[in-house]
Amino acid sequence: MAGTLYLVPTPIGNLGDISRRQAETLEAVDFIAAEDTRVTLKLLNHLGLKKPLVSYYRHNTDKAGEQVLTRLLAGESCALCTDAGTPAISDPGEDLVALCAQNDVPVVSIPGPCALITALSVSGLPTGRFTFEGFLPMNKKNRRTHLESLRGEERTMIFYEAPHKLRSTLADLLEVFGPDRPIALCRELTKLHEEVVRTTLAGAVEQYRGAEPRGEFVLVLSGAQPTEEGEATLDDGLALVGRLREEGSSLKDAVKQAARELGLSKNELYTAALEGQL
Ligand code: SAM
Repeated sequence: MAGTLYLVPTPIGNLGDISRRQAETLEAVDFIAAEDTRVTLKLLNHLGLKKPLVSYYRHNTDKAGEQVLTRLLAGESCALCTDAGTPAISDPGEDLVALCAQNDVPVVSIPGPCALITALSVSGLPTGRFTFEGFLPMNKKNRRTHLESLRGEERTMIFYEAPHKLRSTLADLLEVFGPDRPIALCRELTKLHEEVVRTTLAGAVEQYRGAEPRGEFVLVLSGAQPTEEGEATLDDGLALVGRLREEGSSLKDAVKQAARELGLSKNELYTAALEGQL
């Protein structure tokens, strides 16, 4: 019978966040697949554990994945630890989970620290519905295209970002979502210099205008204001004014009727109609 792959989250900055179940799992497994064996060794030393480690990182997922799978199929149990936080969330762990799933190897996820959830919960922004966007594409054009696709997104959006790219990302966000969009910049969560800056995109660009920011960041961006279903726009009003004019109404009467029917401001619609020469 195949052994089990355990996904064991590790602290995102505070060693006190390791749970009893995480520690017990690390102690119980036959071996640990680690994104960075030095990082995981430090954790094992902190817990007073000794365990065989194998390396499993972004550039060896194919080869190392097969080796881990072979041992799992032979009945050994394995814990997967990535550098920090929950394995398989924006890190190479997702490939190993997929490989196990394809080969009917049981996978058990132990709950624990996760940067995106820690940031979302402290952001002060709506948490009921959110979309996790992970890292934006590196290529500027692809990044811009992706952000454009999020322009009308009403759910809270969560991004991971490296400090050296933060300023250019904030500039891109400002261009697409506008200066007034609320954002929470969550830096160095659970660490000594933890900081949550709740501001707007214009405020964020201003805040980080100086020296390059330091530390790890999660950006939590407010979604677009929902438009009420059926709510009429000025363009709807102008279209109706145009139709009423074609039917013979005077401009004044057409504006009055359209504004009343669609719940729009008569003055705004009249001005827009004059500008559009209806
Ligand atoms: N799997 C991990 C998780 O979901 O918790 C995330 C791994 S991803 C490679 C690393 C990114 O997570 C960082 O670039 C940063 O955006 C975010 N992150 C990790 N630890 C953080 C912390 N203490 N404070 C803020 N962001 C953090």
